[in-house]
Amino acid sequence: MTNRFLGADAIVRASRPTDPLLLLDGDKARFAAAAALRAFPGIVAYAVKVCDRPEVLRALADGGIRHWDVASIHEVRALREQFPEGVLHFMNPVKAAAHIVEAHALGVRDFAFDCERELDKIAESTKRDPAVVPVLRIAVPNDHAKFALDGKFGCDEDEAARLLSLAAAQGYRPGVTFHVGSQCESAASWEMATDIACRAAARAGIEPSVIDIGGGYPAPYRGVEPDFASCVAAGRRAMDRWFPRFDGRFQCEPGRVLVAPSASVLVRVELRKGQALHLNDGYYGLLSELKWMPGVHPVRMLRPSGRSRCAPQAFSFFGPTCDSIDSMDGPYHLPGDIEEGDWIEIGMMGAYSTVLAGRFNGFPDAQTVVLDQQRDHRAAA
Ligand SMILES: *Cc1c(COP(=O)(O)O)cnc(C)c1O
Repeated sequence: MTNRFLGADAIVRASRPTDPLLLLDGDKARFAAAAALRAFPGIVAYAVKVCDRPEVLRALADGGIRHWDVASIHEVRALREQFPEGVLHFMNPVKAAAHIVEAHALGVRDFAFDCERELDKIAESTKRDPAVVPVLRIAVPNDHAKFALDGKFGCDEDEAARLLSLAAAQGYRPGVTFHVGSQCESAASWEMATDIACRAAARAGIEPSVIDIGGGYPAPYRGVEPDFASCVAAGRRAMDRWFPRFDGRFQCEPGRVLVAPSASVLVRVELRKGQALHLNDGYYGLLSELKWMPGVHPVRMLRPSGRSRCAPQAFSFFGPTCDSIDSMDGPYHLPGDIEEGDWIEIGMMGAYSTVLAGRFNGFPDAQTVVLDQQRDHRAAA
């Protein structure tokens, strides 16, 4: 894996930033999108919740993304505004009726559900428009994911067979979907999950109009994770066994894998206490994933006065707020002489960072440096 860090050296040398910075490189998102589209034999819908910065969405569109998995009416409105021609898929299984009405008026046709009442709500709110596709969210094992997403949504296989029959009896050709959990590091999970979804459809006696194998594809934080193509191939194998002449839509909803490489976070060490480093950003800012996925993101020290020759040691991080939740145990391996006033670049931070940042203790949103523009400036100079 190349270039997990962005252009932090020049920034530290030039401006010695005292506040945390988000360094954004849209090219990385554009490349990831183009690669995913080459690898996927169907529709790739980006999961907008993972990073909704307009620069990043633009970069994904430049890479070829035309479909967007949205989870709230706010995302529906924002995406409709930025991409009037984009195809939106409303994949949150619980929605306000008024939001279904509005989304439908804005051209949305795919709506997720995982229970009978939501199916009724979709039918009522869209006046039984036959172009609507109710997509059933089915529960699948999340055993290999860093973040399990099975605690809230998804019906079991028996209920899935019943709901698919019910939707078919109402005149729909429903779809099926699932989520194996985020940062799922076993490709076999997609084969097992697709098998469950397809078996439920077969039991209901239907061929789904869409088989959507969800998100969860691992980002290459350490370089040992399975690649997108092998996860997709595993799902495809199960689909081909059940529906060898499938004439519907084969679809996926990647989030993290498309945008993680497109940003890093530049922080400064404000105090060292032994092996604990107090930073100027943390859990309540851009770094909440470091708490739940410890020691995975690549880190390196930046010191404009020169390099360190010290051997690496293990460190833990604390953020700048007063709450003891604001700690990230790591371990993170950094030069043994790292000290107050050094900077750390945390790479692969484009996913679930900006969207989860709050303003606790009065810390404002981090400033963004768009590296594309810097390159453009250099090219123009
Ligand atoms: C969050 C989410 C995704 C994206 O998940 P990643 O793990 O970031 O790929 C896709 N689909 C649904 C329904 C989601 O909730």
